[in-house]
Amino acid sequence: MIHVLKHVESITRHRDRTLLEVGVASALYEILRPEAVNLFKVQDAGHRTLLHRLAHAGSDGVRYCDTDFDTADEILALDSREDFRACVAEERIVADASAGNGRITYCLPVAYDGKVSGVIELRASAALDNERLDLALGFINLYRNYLSLLDYSERDTLTGLLNRRTFDDNLDKILGAITASRVDEALLPGADRRQHGPVSAPHWLAVMDADRFKRINDEFGHLYGDEVLILLANLMRESFRFEDKLFRFGGEEFVAVLTPTSAEDVARVLERFREKVEQYHFPQVGQVTISIGYVPLRAGDTPSAALGAADEALYYAKNHGRNRVCAYPALVEAGEILPRTFNDDLELF
Ligand code: GH3
Ligand code: MG
Ligand code: MG
Repeated sequence: MIHVLKHVESITRHRDRTLLEVGVASALYEILRPEAVNLFKVQDAGHRTLLHRLAHAGSDGVRYCDTDFDTADEILALDSREDFRACVAEERIVADASAGNGRITYCLPVAYDGKVSGVIELRASAALDNERLDLALGFINLYRNYLSLLDYSERDTLTGLLNRRTFDDNLDKILGAITASRVDEALLPGADRRQHGPVSAPHWLAVMDADRFKRINDEFGHLYGDEVLILLANLMRESFRFEDKLFRFGGEEFVAVLTPTSAEDVARVLERFREKVEQYHFPQVGQVTISIGYVPLRAGDTPSAALGAADEALYYAKNHGRNRVCAYPALVEAGEILPRTFNDDLELF
C-alpha cells in the first residue's frame, strides 16, 4: 500500500505533462510488473485516428517519446490494431492472447472529456488477475483526473487555446531540441532543400494580433469583443494542422508554433489564415482583420529572441497598412528592418 502511495505522490508532484506521462508508465510497470507499458495518446488527424506513443516503461528502461520530434514508429493508425480500435470505440479493457505462450496484451482506455483520449498498453507474460487490473484502472482514473487539472491550468478560459505560461514551457522544449543542421539545411535555396526532404524544415513562430480591436470593444461592447476572440480562436483551429500549437497570449494577441514546414508553405498557410479572417462575417461586428509577423525557430534562439523577432515583423505589418503577413527574415534581407542579435535576453523596453 505504501508502495502504491509513493507512486501516487510522485505522479501528482508534477506540473509537467511529460513527467506525468512517464510517471504513470513507470508506476504501472513497477506495480504490475508486466513486460512493458506503453502510453498512447489518441489523435484525431481529420480523415483518420492516430495513436501516438508518449511514454514507455520496460526492462529496457523508461523513456518519453517527444511529440514534437517523433519518428514514424511512435505513431500508428488506430485501425491497424483491432485491440486498440475496440478499446477506443467501445471504451473498455481489451485483452489479446493471440501472441501465444500465455502472453497477453491489455489495452486500457483513458476516458477523458467524454471520449477516449488515450490508451495504455500492458504487455504481460501471463494473465493479470482482477485485483491488479483494478489497481491499474485506479491509477488510470487518477491520471485522468490529474490531466483535467493540468488542462485547466494550461489553457486560456475564454478561447480554450493554450495560454502564455504553456507557451513559455513549450517553446523552451522545442528550441532545445532543434539542431543546427536542421536549420542550416532549411535555409538552403528551394531546389537544394527539396533534395534534403521535409525533415530539414524548421519550426516557425507566428505572432498574430487583431487589427484595431479597441474600436470593436468601443463600438460594440466588451461582450462582442470577447465573441470575436472566441471566433478567431475557432478559425485558428480550423486553419492550422492538428500538430501545430496554438496559444492565446493575452488580449487580442495569438501565437502559433508551426511544425516543420518549408518557407513557401508557411507563407501560404499564414496568408490563407489572414484571408480567412478577412472574409469571415463576425456577427454584428462585420469584418475583422489580423496582422501577422513570423520567424523560423533557429538553433540557439532564446524564446524572448524568437518572440522579439516575430514581434518586430508584426509591428512592421501594423505600420504598413495592417491586414498583412510579414516574415522577419525577408524584412531583414530587404533592409526594411535591422537584424537583431539573437543571443541576448536583455529587454530594454
Ligand atoms: P492594433 O491594430 O494596433 O493592434 O490596434 P488595437 O486596437 O487592436 O490595439 P490596442 O493594443 O490599442 O488595443 C487592444 C485592445 O484589446 C484593448 C483592450 O480593450 C482589448 N482587449 C484586451 N483583452 C481583451 C479581452 O479579453 N476581451 C475583450 N473584449 N477585449 C480585450
Ligand atoms: Mg491589436
Ligand atoms: Mg495587441
